[in-house]
Amino acid sequence: MKTVNDFNFENKKALIRVDFNVPLDEDLKVTDATRIEAAKPTILKVLEDGGSAVLMSHLGRPKGVEDKFSLGHIVDNVSDIIGVQVKFVADCVGEDVEKAVAELQNGEVLLLENLRFYSEEKAGDKAFAEKLSKCGDIYVNDAFGTAHRAHASTTIVAEFFPDHKCFGLLLAKEIESLEKVLGSSEKPVTAILGGSKVSSKITVIENILDKVDHLIIGGGMSFTFIKALGGSIGNSICEDDKQELALSILEQAKEKGVKIHLPVDVIAADAFSNDANTQAVDIYHIPDGWEGLDAGPKTNIGFSFVIAQSKTILWNGPVGVFEMKSFSKGTIELGHAISDATEEGAFSLVGGGDSVAAVKQFGFADKVSYVSTGGGAMLEMLEGKTLPGIAAIMN
Ligand code: AMP
Repeated sequence: MKTVNDFNFENKKALIRVDFNVPLDEDLKVTDATRIEAAKPTILKVLEDGGSAVLMSHLGRPKGVEDKFSLGHIVDNVSDIIGVQVKFVADCVGEDVEKAVAELQNGEVLLLENLRFYSEEKAGDKAFAEKLSKCGDIYVNDAFGTAHRAHASTTIVAEFFPDHKCFGLLLAKEIESLEKVLGSSEKPVTAILGGSKVSSKITVIENILDKVDHLIIGGGMSFTFIKALGGSIGNSICEDDKQELALSILEQAKEKGVKIHLPVDVIAADAFSNDANTQAVDIYHIPDGWEGLDAGPKTNIGFSFVIAQSKTILWNGPVGVFEMKSFSKGTIELGHAISDATEEGAFSLVGGGDSVAAVKQFGFADKVSYVSTGGGAMLEMLEGKTLPGIAAIMN
């Protein structure tokens, strides 16, 4: 796996695909700069070698050119974080861009305009990718969040750099962390899958059954399993058409020697509201009119016990409706258990949009081994897919 550390960028222009798809508020100010911070080590490596960096990214989902999606709005943030006054060009291909690139000096950084102002970006258009390729001597992909898309800037452009392409440090770390979990010999390996639906994680479950010793299934998706096993789940979220599948997963796990852990109790509520009446009940006997919205106290103890014995831990998806304070306890306790196991020497990887939001919100981000930056990309890697953005560098 070639990274920026395998190249010397002295007098070279690095064309770096970063993920600066950051959230902006109504005044077009950046509200969370994590993704810019994450790209910093790669950019600094290029500059410290004595090269220059041309940064390209998308921002939001513009329909054609729309000012509110201009990367011009984040130039000051990028400059502050990198520590260099970043130059900006109001396009990402064409004469103005080629001129700005030609004038770029060693030690300087140029940010191109939003790639998605051109429909060719998402279409993976080869001619567009060729125009992008004119902006650098070495292509670097450091955008994990879009590595599962075969877009012009993430995949196709690499074809124009057969011997001069590599991973940025962020993307390399993402790949290494995931490989550490999926190919781990540090056993027991435990995966915790939560979230709302079985259907969105089914391929993940099937793929990781070959890689883990324990699989904890929590959150909304557990009710499909409990109902399939004959439980009364009241109004809890459930995918009736996935019950057979749930039983088949339990069967497959048995054959593969994977121990599945389902919740044994839940915090049931009489409405989907933070102010609802609640009671802790056996998950197989949820009263009519009530729905399970968080893991119950016995479940939290059981899950924590499994985690405490694990040497490798993967967490994707909350075990309750953590967005509401009344139903956040299970997810918080899970975070504590994973943090404690990490302190004892386990390797822990947290990924997938909602669990990342949860670890940040509850202060666990520094207490786990690695927090992934890519939701969809991480899920696809967990599904065992080869991501086009990664394959394009490897080939
Ligand atoms: P996902 O996007 O599939 O990872 O699901 C994340 C969402 O699942 C979060 O917004 C949680 O609020 C939701 N969730 C977790 N547990 C439950 C539950 N018991 N009932 C309903 N939604 C849940």
